[in-house]
Amino acid sequence: MGKESLGVKETIEMMKHVASVIIESEPILTDADRNLGDGDHGLGMERGMNAVINKLSESEADEVSDVFKMTGMAMMSSMGGASGALFGTLFRNGGKALEGEEKFDSKGLHSFLEAANDGVKSRGGAIPGDKTMIDALEPASIRAGEVSEMPLCESIKIVAQSANEGKNNSKEMIATMGRAKTLGEKSVGHPDAGACSVAIIIQAMSDFINT
Ligand code: ADP
Ligand code: MG
Repeated sequence: MGKESLGVKETIEMMKHVASVIIESEPILTDADRNLGDGDHGLGMERGMNAVINKLSESEADEVSDVFKMTGMAMMSSMGGASGALFGTLFRNGGKALEGEEKFDSKGLHSFLEAANDGVKSRGGAIPGDKTMIDALEPASIRAGEVSEMPLCESIKIVAQSANEGKNNSKEMIATMGRAKTLGEKSVGHPDAGACSVAIIIQAMSDFINT
């Protein structure tokens, strides 16, 4: 049965599920970054998500915002590199937007994604079309605003689909940010690695919420 909202314990379980799916997806993420960057994205995300599982198992989260903030802090301190700071910002800023909320619901999903997207944009300076994680995150954030009156189990499916479409659209873009920008037009034809991670994360959230 799909869930309409999640409490703290379920949010922890959801993020542990997300972490295990990213860890399983390491080869896909490694390949994606090998095509456009230096090939370290899969291992970086795997390291980050192992740290997330440890942190969520050891520390107490009082409210849903803490779960996401702890996720961001674990990624930031374990991954290093551009994406450690950027994924750390995604989850920390997203989590901060949920402070005081007892449940994670469709409105919370929108607040989370909007703050996450704004945070990554201001930290990294990328805009849509630069062929970065923003190309999956921004369409997901906008769509989340449009479906925030639906139950979470429905809205998250639609939002995951938007992130996946954004990831697919990144294939046709020319990279203008990060390492891949040196490839110029040769970057066309491959999806951005960070956008792949964002799409996988939101799909894993949807799968957890719908089981
Ligand atoms: P690194 O670039 O240090 O090797 P990763 O390989 O782990 O780090 O991550 C690469 C991903 O980070 C890219 O695919 C892209 O999505 C994202 N990225 C890089 N720079 C930026 C930026 N300035 N803004 C947003 N995302 C970025
Ligand atoms: Mg890399």
